[in-house]
Amino acid sequence: MEQISEHVWWMPPGPPDRPSLCAVVGERWTLALDAGASRSHTREFLDGLPQQPSAVVYSHSHWDHVFGGVEIGGLVIAHTLTAQKLVEMAARDWTDDAGVGEHIREELPAPRVVEIAQADVTFDHGLLLDLGGVRVHARHVGGAHAADSSVMFVERDDLLFLGDALCDAVDERLEREILSFEAQRYVEGHHPAVSTRVEIEAIIAEQRDLH
Ligand SMILES: [Zn+2]
Repeated sequence: MEQISEHVWWMPPGPPDRPSLCAVVGERWTLALDAGASRSHTREFLDGLPQQPSAVVYSHSHWDHVFGGVEIGGLVIAHTLTAQKLVEMAARDWTDDAGVGEHIREELPAPRVVEIAQADVTFDHGLLLDLGGVRVHARHVGGAHAADSSVMFVERDDLLFLGDALCDAVDERLEREILSFEAQRYVEGHHPAVSTRVEIEAIIAEQRDLH
């Protein structure tokens, strides 16, 4: 766990497929950015924070970002599409017999219990969250990795939390959306370091070629 800006704490990604998690600590309340791959992953994250989050906002519905939501135990904020996916995920069979992926088997050995926290607050285009002394803009950006991808901009800290939005091909529209935020620090779902704007521009250029 590392404090990477005035209000933001970051837990870097790790094996088998644990993504970056952040918490934005405001004067009035604390917000988690993504929830992690399991209760135990999320517990490690929560134990390292100066304040406990009373809500989490999701970058998208992939399992490694949301399985830990129940451990946070606060309000779940999600894009409408993400919220729909959470309903489907709660109804799904997550046993080995149902053919779950290798990373899930490693993160949660059988017999596993998967509890999917459902969305309490949903948004379509975006949502502004005022934590007291720091504001977080959630904005839906979509893209090739997941149609429900949203990014979170932490104002004043000039930090953009990307989830996995840049993990697949990036088109002109997505590039414009991502670079429209005047951020200086970028946290990606599965990248082991915080990136600068120059580094993010280089990553986008690489991903543009995939398109
Ligand atoms: Zn993903």
